Amino acid sequence: MEGTYREIQTALQQKNVQLVAVSKTRPPEAVMEMYQAGHRDFGENRVQELREKYDALPKDIRWHLIGHLQTNKVKYIAPWIYMIHSVDSAELLEEIDKQGRKNNRVIPCLLQVYIADEETKFGMEEEELTDLIASGWIGLLQNVRIDGLMGMATNTENMEQVRMEFRHLKEIFTRIKKHYYPNEPTFRHISMGMSHDYTIAIEEGSTIVRIGSLLFGERN
Ligand SMILES: *Cc1c(COP(=O)(O)O)cnc(C)c1O
Repeated sequence: MEGTYREIQTALQQKNVQLVAVSKTRPPEAVMEMYQAGHRDFGENRVQELREKYDALPKDIRWHLIGHLQTNKVKYIAPWIYMIHSVDSAELLEEIDKQGRKNNRVIPCLLQVYIADEETKFGMEEEELTDLIASGWIGLLQNVRIDGLMGMATNTENMEQVRMEFRHLKEIFTRIKKHYYPNEPTFRHISMGMSHDYTIAIEEGSTIVRIGSLLFGERN
């Protein structure tokens, strides 16, 4: 694991791309091994598992939530979550803001955009996203900060399709940045790319990749 990690991390650092090591389904020991190698950013997709790992592991780990989040679970992670990649509704954002206020902090969020040609993926349609941002409502929320967008490509062998979906997300990002966040340097991230498609995602402008199986081995 450590050799692969070093190789990937070195390549990503040269390109200024951040690595979120996706540790879902892995035991805390697997996280610890990468922690010992110097890594601090880890991603989980389920709140329950995330809480267990948060409790068990060093407190300087930066935990990223990358999976669908139910509004009634925000309170469990709000005190310490580093970034929520999977914000897919105004209702959820409102709750994150509320819990951020309770914890006296500003919670960094990415808005998840639906770019795949699949029924199963969460995220907002481009139009819904644009309407939400254009409404100005997000600007009133003082305890969330929108750091950019997140998306998942279709799970397909067709890498040209994957590339086009990533390119589409980058275009949406560029348009939104230009119109709504031109003077906000913190609106800067595009979280896209997983084990099988991260090199394409980087070619298409990713700033954060979320890699699991390539680092930890195949999941059962
Ligand atoms: C599981 C997961 C990943 C990592 O997938 P791998 O194929 O193991 O790299 C990335 N993003 C999300 C949202 C995930 O749920």
